[in-house]
Amino acid sequence: MVKDLSDFQIQYIKGVGPQRARLLSRLGIKTVKDALYYLPYRYEDRSSLRRISDLIYGNVETVSGRVISAEVISLTGRNLKIFELIVNDGSGLLKGKWFNQPFMKKNFEVGDEVVLCGTIKRNPYWGIGFEMDNPEYEIMSDDGDSLIHTNRIVPVYRVTSGLSVRQIRSIIFNLINTCIKDVRDPIPVEILRRNGLRGLFESLLQVHFPDVGVDIEPLNRGVSDFHRRLSFDELFMLELGLAVIKRGNVLEKGIAFNPEGRLLKRLIEMLPFRLTRAQEKVFSDILRDMKRPHPMNRLIQGDVGCGKTAVALMAMTVAAECRYQSALMAPTEILAEQHYINIHRMIEDLGLKICLLTGSKKDRPLKEIASGEIDIVVGTHALIQEGVVFKNLGLVVIDEQHRFGVMQRALLRKKAINPDVLVMTATPIPRTLALTLYGDLDYSVIDELPPNRRPVITLLFNHRQKHYVYRLIREEVKKGREVYVVYPIIEESEKTDLRSAIKGKNAFEKFFPEFKVGLLHGRIKPQDREEIMASFKQGEIDILVSTTVIEVGVDVPNATLMLIIHAERFGLAQLHQLRGRTGRGSQQSYCILVAYEPYGEEARKRLNIMVRSNDGFRIAEEDLNIRGPGEFFGTRQSGIPDLRIANIVRDAELLNVARREAFSLIDRDPDLKGFPLLRKSLETFWEGKIELFKTG
Ligand code: ADP
Ligand code: MG
Repeated sequence: MVKDLSDFQIQYIKGVGPQRARLLSRLGIKTVKDALYYLPYRYEDRSSLRRISDLIYGNVETVSGRVISAEVISLTGRNLKIFELIVNDGSGLLKGKWFNQPFMKKNFEVGDEVVLCGTIKRNPYWGIGFEMDNPEYEIMSDDGDSLIHTNRIVPVYRVTSGLSVRQIRSIIFNLINTCIKDVRDPIPVEILRRNGLRGLFESLLQVHFPDVGVDIEPLNRGVSDFHRRLSFDELFMLELGLAVIKRGNVLEKGIAFNPEGRLLKRLIEMLPFRLTRAQEKVFSDILRDMKRPHPMNRLIQGDVGCGKTAVALMAMTVAAECRYQSALMAPTEILAEQHYINIHRMIEDLGLKICLLTGSKKDRPLKEIASGEIDIVVGTHALIQEGVVFKNLGLVVIDEQHRFGVMQRALLRKKAINPDVLVMTATPIPRTLALTLYGDLDYSVIDELPPNRRPVITLLFNHRQKHYVYRLIREEVKKGREVYVVYPIIEESEKTDLRSAIKGKNAFEKFFPEFKVGLLHGRIKPQDREEIMASFKQGEIDILVSTTVIEVGVDVPNATLMLIIHAERFGLAQLHQLRGRTGRGSQQSYCILVAYEPYGEEARKRLNIMVRSNDGFRIAEEDLNIRGPGEFFGTRQSGIPDLRIANIVRDAELLNVARREAFSLIDRDPDLKGFPLLRKSLETFWEGKIELFKTG
């Protein structure tokens, strides 16, 4: 067996031992490899420290000097304790301040040599000139490690309590010196050469302990040549795994649907609209997949309201015509119910049998599903996980919001059923990212909205301007339209001062006695929810007060106004999804964001983007910028391994390269027979996530 550094436990490295190993594991460091890939989150240039007398206000500076005073100051009259550290470097004095952390005092002794890093401030009232608030600090000692901690570009690592940055730096320095000779580069050398990537050995060394003279700015942004090389490794491993999974899918036996097309033709005639060009194109992709004797795994991406459901319906009709059952899975019960309400009549008019199956539904037609009497089952993910038995499940449509990842899809296939799988998502993300996030899937996009849609007009009001809003509501309802009002919470609670749906409903009823007001939220019983949605759709309810349960999938074309209360509390993606519930008919729709002041800068940005743009792609991009990729994607849920070094947004161009190289390598050598070390690294990288290679 090939060994690599992930086979060596950190505990047995000199200077570590069981206790430190335990602390390191809190940082995710268990093996020698983990440690080598535990990168600094920033660097300090201590090769030429600025003298205190030369500091520049407003700059982030690193200063080294000796402690001449370390005292806790209590401000009289105010409940504030400040720990003040005064440092002298021979050219001047610098004061570091820590607020309400009196315990800091015990860390320092007068005479200690320290390094402080922070933004330089001027104290206008009293002072010695230069100050730093809550600086990062490091206490130097004469432990003979001066070449590690000073006189160079010094790496700064994230710490955990009980382990200082100095200790981590020493451990990694030691590791590099003892182990780096054992590092073997798993990446084929021609791939490195083709893409101008540095050696692994060199990159690991430089990324921790850069040579004097290396530009610090790219290091700090994580885009130095050395970072790029390590980011590439991660992205390459990611894409390689996806390529292997995808190849496995492609080779697997599946159903070759062979429809005559009669039922599909009837469905298309029944649809109250003509398909858009984009819908037709995407459906032809699907049909081609369905006819092939291998399982389909296709992602359909399209902004809210572009008509994904119609396309799914067509695919299910094809399956039914070939006497296969379909399952339509939604992330929530409400959405499953919505799908059911929206499509069951049309399905039944085609002479097919459809049923709704959710966790809280009492009458479960399990027998009819098992006997094959029912053609289409609509439900939540539980449908597949709870092992409902189908007679011959041929097609699974997953309507989702990132909630059904690579792993779950692999599970689905392991159930020894190999149905065609169609995933629909309204999260508009750039193509390469989609290809990675849903890396085992083929990809189609519906990039066109049905004609005669007018963009929803979005307006921002603050809570004191409610009377305008009430006037708008009255006008719309008088025109015979329906109105949504969305609240962030169901019920008032002690913990927050947010307005709630229940109180809101009462208020609207008082304010509009002539209108019928309904209430919908997750705690209402499913049967009642169905009834409420149905009467809203039929126009019996004029104003529907709800929580975000209506976020996805609800389709009421006559609803032309949506009020989002506490809009400042919602995320961008969520606001866009909510807004997408309106603008589904040919009349002009409005989305009114009611924001409660004060709110922060980020909330202001989100609200402004909503007002400016209706374009889901733009909004997703902004969202990505505001939140960063980790939070945006919630990688944990997507089922792909965590990236520790690379950033799929920052490194988008590198991701493209990695994808191309990985897929072409798997094409040439599917089992990586010629690359045992690479294969081993790949298995480590994807460990526990998925069974990569079916054969030994
Ligand atoms: P999505 O699931 O993509 O958000 P839906 O499938 O729910 O969108 O469709 C939104 C609305 O648009 C529905 O009322 C649907 O009947 C309608 N619709 C779908 N396709 C078309 C089309 N080609 N022309 C006009 N209306 C359409
Ligand atoms: Mg939909």
